Amino acid sequence: MLIGLIAFWGTHRAAAQQTQQRCGIEQKMALLRSQNPAFYFKQKLFQTEITRQLEAERNTKTQRQQTQNAREILEIPVVVHVITDSDLRTLGGVNNSNISDAQVRAQIRILNEDFANATNTRGFNLNGIDTKIRFKLATTDPNQNPTTGIVRVRTTRTSFDPFNDAVALAQLSGWSTERYLNIWVCRFNSQSILGVGQYPVGTTIKGLETETGDAITDGIAVDFRYFGQGPDIRSRLYKYGRTTTHEIGHWFGLLHTWGDEFCGSDYCADTPACEYPNNTNDTTCVDVFSTCNGGTSTRNMTENYMDYTPDRCMNRFTGDQTDRMWKVLELSPRREKLVKYLRNLNIPKTTALTIEVSNNPVSGSEFDLKVQFNADFQDFTIYIFNQSGKLCYTQSIKNSPSSLTTVPAGALPAGAYFLKVTTPSEAATVRLMVLK
Ligand SMILES: [Zn+2]
Repeated sequence: MLIGLIAFWGTHRAAAQQTQQRCGIEQKMALLRSQNPAFYFKQKLFQTEITRQLEAERNTKTQRQQTQNAREILEIPVVVHVITDSDLRTLGGVNNSNISDAQVRAQIRILNEDFANATNTRGFNLNGIDTKIRFKLATTDPNQNPTTGIVRVRTTRTSFDPFNDAVALAQLSGWSTERYLNIWVCRFNSQSILGVGQYPVGTTIKGLETETGDAITDGIAVDFRYFGQGPDIRSRLYKYGRTTTHEIGHWFGLLHTWGDEFCGSDYCADTPACEYPNNTNDTTCVDVFSTCNGGTSTRNMTENYMDYTPDRCMNRFTGDQTDRMWKVLELSPRREKLVKYLRNLNIPKTTALTIEVSNNPVSGSEFDLKVQFNADFQDFTIYIFNQSGKLCYTQSIKNSPSSLTTVPAGALPAGAYFLKVTTPSEAATVRLMVLK
């Protein structure tokens, strides 16, 4: 397999000189494989773990449909870091890496059209799926101050390398990758690579959670000439913002439709195996066929966002891709934290640990406990003791923001209790009355 991959690389590097290439993640992973093989293989293991869990859950087609229908819209706050060597006062214009606000906002609109499979947009496909994932420019910064979600930073560097400069970009400007999707827009030094993403990591694979350096770069980087849509974008093939859609697909753990190998797997049964990426210089969207399954010729899903076809040819995520994205939101610690944070957006941090029981005295089978503290995320434990000091209930919560937790009370006899919450550095107790 190793030899096969290298051979594959050889042929496709040559091809990339003639044609622009949507994305650099394949080269980035090849670099990672040589520099940190253990981490590379753990990322591969995460993909098989996602598959294993999905297969265990996916009993029938109907159940799967029900799961998809039951998902609530998840709107992810996005920060766009515009990294430029231009005067910050001059926005937009052809070849100005300090792109206009309108170009950024067009990109967010396109993301929402694509991820929603929105009718009457370029992101609609009759067989496409609404992923229920949406994006919006962040409205508060990491210090709770209002923001446009667009951060502009001027640097003396004229360009960045798509494979080796992720840390340099993150150091120029970067927000918590546990609370925002970070997008860096800059000029790449290679005209052939349009964008590059970073795969999520998963704690179920021992070792992945402790990888250093990975957190600050967790986002995507896109060359400003292919980001968004508008009069300043002159690319013939890549002018509808699909590079960003594609790279965010990687951020959610999706692979290329050819699995980065000849007839490789992307772990999705509903994207037919294909021999190669469908890179082309032709703006027309033509059918391409592969014979990965013996002699039978199957049409490549060239309309899939995870292919390399021109922007106007792409308009589809599949059901399997959507299920994998949502599974990553569960299994990858930074994505999971982001979801928890979004679900508790209305519960701000406090300077000291504060706890509050809703409807105390409690008369129902459960109650809500609001826990607030001065950390973005931390572990905490809930204890309920009776009057004699006997422990009646305990629950440990991992990696949580300030949040609301539902606590079951049905098993508690009527009476007075003490509810205690401990964090790694603080403790707080309230009296709890249970009525029956
Ligand atoms: Zn890619």
